[in-house]
Amino acid sequence: MEKQTHNVGERVEKFCVTCGEQRGHVVASVTKRGQISRVSCPQCGTRGTYKSGGAGTGSRTASGSGAPYDRTRTYRAGQSLTHPVFGQGEVTAVIEPQKIDVLFSDRMRRLIHARIQA
Ligand SMILES: [Zn+2]
Repeated sequence: MEKQTHNVGERVEKFCVTCGEQRGHVVASVTKRGQISRVSCPQCGTRGTYKSGGAGTGSRTASGSGAPYDRTRTYRAGQSLTHPVFGQGEVTAVIEPQKIDVLFSDRMRRLIHARIQA
């Protein structure tokens, strides 16, 4: 039935028991067949197994879009933004002073921020 394959770094919706809410998780590992085996919650860092075929709630969290992505801004984990190409995303972590990981609707992407404009 499920022909869909996945890759590490993709985003999936899952209920996080630690956070107590349904939220985007990052695929941490996949099986040889491309099925998700483990995911991690970017908010609390909890890793858990992913059971596919669960309650497929097609409803996306429409909790207002974040402000437009601005590379000169300084972001913090948990902030949401709207990228002109990738769409709405949520900052999951600040990797380096000028690099952030942002979880978009399809996968995680690394963006720059806090870039002082010349
Ligand atoms: Zn969590």
